[in-house]
Amino acid sequence: MTSGRHPTPPARQRQLVGMVADLGPTFAERAAGYDRDARFPHENYADLRAAGLLGLCVPAEYGGLGADFATYGLVSEELGRHCGSTALTFNMHTATMLLCGQIADDLEMSPADRAEHERRRAAMYAGVISAGHIHAQPFSEGNAPGATAGVATLAVPADGGWRLTGRKIFASLSGAADRHNVICVAPDDPTIRFMSVPTGSEGLSFTGDWDPLGMRGTVSLTLLLEDVFVPADAELLPAGVFDQVASRWPHFYLTLSFTYLGIMRAVMDFTDGYLAGRIGPGSRRDNPQKQAGWAEMQVSYERAHALARHVLAEAGVDPTPAQVRRAWASMVSTMETAPELASLAVRVCGGRSLLRPHTLERLYRDARCGATMLPWSVEACLDRLGRAGLLDDTDTGAPHA
Ligand SMILES: Cc1cc2nc3c(=O)[nH]c(=O)nc-3n(C[C@H](O)[C@H](O)[C@H](O)COP(=O)(O)OP(=O)(O)OC[C@H]3O[C@@H](n4cnc5c(N)ncnc54)[C@H](O)[C@@H]3O)c2cc1C
Repeated sequence: MTSGRHPTPPARQRQLVGMVADLGPTFAERAAGYDRDARFPHENYADLRAAGLLGLCVPAEYGGLGADFATYGLVSEELGRHCGSTALTFNMHTATMLLCGQIADDLEMSPADRAEHERRRAAMYAGVISAGHIHAQPFSEGNAPGATAGVATLAVPADGGWRLTGRKIFASLSGAADRHNVICVAPDDPTIRFMSVPTGSEGLSFTGDWDPLGMRGTVSLTLLLEDVFVPADAELLPAGVFDQVASRWPHFYLTLSFTYLGIMRAVMDFTDGYLAGRIGPGSRRDNPQKQAGWAEMQVSYERAHALARHVLAEAGVDPTPAQVRRAWASMVSTMETAPELASLAVRVCGGRSLLRPHTLERLYRDARCGATMLPWSVEACLDRLGRAGLLDDTDTGAPHA
């Protein structure tokens, strides 16, 4: 298994995490407003853009910061610690950078496809680095849980490109992204295609209301594509490569979980500060029941965090079946521990901790959203783990995602 051509050295990882940590207090201050108004964090994105962080996972040869997958995990966790909605939407942006960069480099392509891919990704990366483009990744259609299953969005060949028709649910960054990167299929061909639709394209629109429980700043409306023309160059991966991701680079689908690790960290930070009396009505550090609850929280957090870090270090091409199972287990552990930990924090800190402007009630709501996120939702991962080793369809070449 390799993890890309240029693994990021630890000192560089610390530096990149530090860049986000520097922005963190400002992001944390703004988070309540985005949550209250269910508004996209435009100001945070302006800061990310100014810091060069939109290019976090753009390879250095294209002018980016050149972070690899593992580094992204650490940076995303730090971002999630300060603003869950910013981290989750930044995940959608960065996932495309990784798909077309480190991950595509690890997968098979003909020399002609490789050369064409090189040309197309250079243009995409230039849009990010020079024009500050933000990318979104609306894949979900609500039809089936698999990464390559239930895709009904149709791409019909047209003169010079494709005409796209379909509907994506939970299109985070609705109206905020410059590019909406969708998966779709051509008629009579099950191969998944990955196409980039510019905002403003004729036939692209958003519909529905957005007033959810948590992750309110993601603004994830329903995206409609009605006979939208995209040029041939808008296909960001050669045909067949997206299907390879699902079977050969399945850790890609872990990326969502790093946001929730960060939210967990924020819950720990809050509880620590509240019990110690640095925030809230006063110290509770001498109360043995609070100490017992705090101890429980530390065990839960450390367990989930350790597994997540272990699995992050295993991410790469062609993982073993055991590594894939561990990745599913980590997804379940992170996405379930986050709301459990937030719930425990409410019990341990007490009623006044739920009052705004304390952050705990928002963290509690944001943390609850992770388990539903496909294709590696908690239910989908448990379904696969339940079959693993018993009904061997999970370990023998079937898409892991
Ligand atoms: C805040 C937020 C932001 C999001 N942003 C994006 C985004 O930017 N891009 C994107 O593509 N998606 C996004 N999503 C969508 C998300 O990934 C899921 O597609 C969505 O939550 C699924 O909706 P549902 O639970 O109603 O689907 P349902 O299909 O009703 O699934 C319900 C649950 O049942 C499980 N399930 C369904 N069928 C099976 C089965 N056969 N076996 C096992 N389990 C099964 C699912 O895994 C899920 O946990 C976002 C979701 C949220 C909450």
